[in-house]
Amino acid sequence: MQFLSPSFTLAEFTVSQEAARRDIDNTPPPWVVENLARLVKTLDEVRAALGNVPILVSSGYRSTALNQAVGGAPNSAHMSGLAADFIAPRFGSPFDVCQAIIRHNIEFDQLIYEHTWVHLGLAPDHKAPRGQILTYRRGVYVPGVVRIEDNKA
Ligand SMILES: [Zn+2]
Repeated sequence: MQFLSPSFTLAEFTVSQEAARRDIDNTPPPWVVENLARLVKTLDEVRAALGNVPILVSSGYRSTALNQAVGGAPNSAHMSGLAADFIAPRFGSPFDVCQAIIRHNIEFDQLIYEHTWVHLGLAPDHKAPRGQILTYRRGVYVPGVVRIEDNKA
């Protein structure tokens, strides 16, 4: 088992039910593994900010084929191993997690409150992080972290 940090394994960022179902190879090339290692440094900061609770990654690296299969943005940072979708239920809701990330001044390129999960993306090495914060609500992105009422209907 390959660990990227004491808290995260490489497999947590590459395993995909969708890839398995569609027989898509989601093995990351070495440059992506390097990016994932960078991403994990930030996720370790997030983990510490949340009181060292487990972070459950639902999507990390996506090969081009997998990204297309799941309907990801064509320029998605997931394709370079620089983004993760996750939850941390032992800390709180995705809304709470987003607020904590902002409160702790953790550096990111993009933080998206996706209602049922958090998307955190880093900038490529040669680019300055934008620190962009968005909420995905009713099919559109709006600036900031805007609380979404839980609609369990
Ligand atoms: Zn994402």
